[in-house]
Amino acid sequence: MSSGIVYLVGAGPGDPTLITLRGVECLRKAEVVVYDYLANEQLLTHAPEGAERIYAGKVGGRHNQGQEEINNLLVEKGLAGKVVVRLKGGDPFVFGRGGEECEALADAGIPFEVVPGVTAAVGASAYAGIPLTHRDVTPSVAFVTGQEGKGKEESTIDWNRLSLGGGTVVFYMGITTLRHNMLRLIEHGRSPATPVALVRWATTERQQVLVGTLADIADQAETSSFKPPAVTIVGEVVSLRKKLRWFDTRVLCDTSIIVTRSAEQSGEFSTKLTMAGATVLECPTIRLVKPESWQLLDLAIRELANYDWLILTSVNGVRYFFDRLDFHGLDARALAGCKICAVGPRTAEEIRSRGIKPDLIPTDYKAEGVIDEFSRLDLRNARILYPRADKARDVIPQGLQQRGAQVDSPVAYRNVFPERLPPETLFALEKRSVDCITFTSSSTVQNLAAMLGEEMMLDMLKGVTVASIGPITSQSCRDLGLKVDIEPETHTLEALVAALEKHFG
Ligand code: SAH
Repeated sequence: MSSGIVYLVGAGPGDPTLITLRGVECLRKAEVVVYDYLANEQLLTHAPEGAERIYAGKVGGRHNQGQEEINNLLVEKGLAGKVVVRLKGGDPFVFGRGGEECEALADAGIPFEVVPGVTAAVGASAYAGIPLTHRDVTPSVAFVTGQEGKGKEESTIDWNRLSLGGGTVVFYMGITTLRHNMLRLIEHGRSPATPVALVRWATTERQQVLVGTLADIADQAETSSFKPPAVTIVGEVVSLRKKLRWFDTRVLCDTSIIVTRSAEQSGEFSTKLTMAGATVLECPTIRLVKPESWQLLDLAIRELANYDWLILTSVNGVRYFFDRLDFHGLDARALAGCKICAVGPRTAEEIRSRGIKPDLIPTDYKAEGVIDEFSRLDLRNARILYPRADKARDVIPQGLQQRGAQVDSPVAYRNVFPERLPPETLFALEKRSVDCITFTSSSTVQNLAAMLGEEMMLDMLKGVTVASIGPITSQSCRDLGLKVDIEPETHTLEALVAALEKHFG
């Protein structure tokens, strides 16, 4: 049997985008992933579905599995010829006992590689706006375990050097021993007025920062029941936070927003909102499925050469249409004789990604805008293909027919609604902790009403700010009794994010 390999991968401090490319590469080929309490579970989505996932967490020193057992597990999986990823919070070699795991692998003759990660101190420094070193303030930094004092008669930490000279000190695992460690620094000569910051769950949306001094931080932490996991940053650099904080001052910080899109589409919008600081609650209200019959679309595809125009109005429309072309063994060349109209910049981008430049992109993305644009052309006897969603309005085909065109509008995909809301979203609504809900198409609001029942929806959204992407969606909201508070002038996701920032800023 060929020998396996174990990758010790640093998962980074918490924000799942702070893992390295190399780390993701390793996860993609993992057969077994052994992960920690501090490694963000979202990272497991990089591993193949069939990979074995083993939780080897340690919560606040309570070991779910002893270190010995973890070492044995890695050796056993390695000997069985597996590709193993040992995913560890932060960096594997900074207080992570990665060294011991590697020793066990080396002793057993199992090949291993180590992939570094952003360690908690570095993550906390960046996201709290506290540079660990600074030319005018501090020339050095030390990472120190906060647990060392516990149960040891003699400390091996050189408290004298740590305390004198003004270097930044970062304690890991130092919340339960905070008072003790702060006192030791003072006893060894650090000024009690030295600024201190505690950074909990750094780089995540749960990040909390508490600022004080060596003299009072322990009292403050006690009063506010500050809990681990957190790093303690000691030094004059902490004062820079006043000017340099950015993560927790973003406009949508402390705003919790429900995103009601299709599961396939919510990613991009949610990322934009998260980047602006919001806590995003996903609420898929749309599931896209194939049409009940392909017959009409297939007929149109067979006759593609006879059409003058193809109109595509959504990214999903483009995907379903091209997938069906592909199903028939065709590609973009089948559209050589046909002009293409893309409604909306995202649709245009999706078409370009297939090697085709749209001939027409109406400046107004509403169906009415499309009709206006086509009104400038002579449409008599023009044949137009408009593959659409089952619930699309008839404005486009009717408007074009009135202008003399012959329009075929086969269904390319259907919107159906999932049966229930995700439990976190339902819970947040019941707790009344949601600030805002966004609707990006009429079906999102109509489906939510169908999922919850109209009355229940109105009740649950009492006091929640309603944001809609444009006038048609807003009308659908009003039809269901919802008052719309935010509607951007341009009907794009970017404009909606900007409008939310303006509203909550
Ligand atoms: N290998 C890890 C450290 C493991 S020791 C690394 O490089 O980051 C565990 C300690 O790391 C915790 O007690 C806490 O002090 C710190 N820590 C890990 N993740 C953290 C986070 N997101 N925010 C604050 N501290 C964190």
